Amino acid sequence: MKAIRVREFGPPDGMRLEEVPDPVPGPGQVVVRIRAVGVNPVETYIRSGTYPRRPALPYTPGHDAAGIVEAVGEDVRGVDVGDRVYTSETVTGAYAGLALCHASRVHRLPGNVSYAQGAAVGVPYATAWRALFQRARAVPGETVLVHGASGGVGVAAVQIARAAGLRVVGTAGTGEGIAMTLREGAHHAFDHRATGYIGEALAATGGRGFDVILEMLANVNLANDLKALAMGGRAVVIGSRGTIGIDPRDAMGRDASIVGMSLFNMPDSDRAIVHAALVAGLENGTLRPVIGRELPLSAAPESHVAVMAPGAKGKIVLIP
Ligand code: NAP
Repeated sequence: MKAIRVREFGPPDGMRLEEVPDPVPGPGQVVVRIRAVGVNPVETYIRSGTYPRRPALPYTPGHDAAGIVEAVGEDVRGVDVGDRVYTSETVTGAYAGLALCHASRVHRLPGNVSYAQGAAVGVPYATAWRALFQRARAVPGETVLVHGASGGVGVAAVQIARAAGLRVVGTAGTGEGIAMTLREGAHHAFDHRATGYIGEALAATGGRGFDVILEMLANVNLANDLKALAMGGRAVVIGSRGTIGIDPRDAMGRDASIVGMSLFNMPDSDRAIVHAALVAGLENGTLRPVIGRELPLSAAPESHVAVMAPGAKGKIVLIP
């Protein structure tokens, strides 16, 4: 099969399409014939060598894919050859024609959801669901700010929160991103590049503040987030690319919490809950992954430049 290989950590053009042996499933494993691959920012951090997790070289990047189960190992129950699935993790890497996965890391892809959309689910939707309900403990009727609503995680968070009965405010950095945020279910959307937008977002809560903030760029926004929280509010740090100074009194005066999360820390019991909810949401149409761009698998280097560029408008997917 063809697969993208990283032979040394460094810039995007170090990723090359190579011929590698087809994987064979062992006990508890399945092989998925990949129809679409989701590109996530974390794969650029890992490829560059700056992320704490460094796989052994050479390796094939990627966590998220969607396709058809091609082979099933011993002791696998509930997954059959021919099933449409999306992956939440792989053993051999998702930027490939085939991926070896633990059976617990493949999830049913309902027939109303395309393979490209399925490739947009694993990391982004699981992150959004876990941040909202398992980390922030959001409940219907609360107000959430999705700070960075135009990307993979943001679109997912807007759809999930809206379907759950929260009041949703989102931000994006372009007119197109703002339009998409509103279209996907936000009650209000603001431009996070405009001066004074946090004040406008706060005004949209009647000045009460946000019960929950899902933060995609904490190193820029966390200090302001703390000032925008309601009494008892929770700010979930999902993305951060540096350091920031905060005034702890902003948290003290509101009984507020700053909650971190990394999907890599999610226990299996929580993972099962998250994907059961996501499959149900895909099936009933409340979750509708938005694809911004499709590229061939050989364009993986271009996809890594694009996913880090400003102006997100849905997911970037690779087609093997
Ligand atoms: P993405 O698709 O590249 O989207 C990035 C988002 O950040 C866009 O909505 C972008 O908006 C927004 N953004 C840019 N400048 C911003 C600002 N000043 N304030 C607020 N938002 C801003 O990435 P993603 O997949 O959604 O992931 C978002 C972040 O979460 C990344 O840093 C990623 O590494 C991280 N992440 C963490 C976990 C975890 O487990 N903790 C899991 C998944 C992702 P515009 O482009 O419209 O400006």
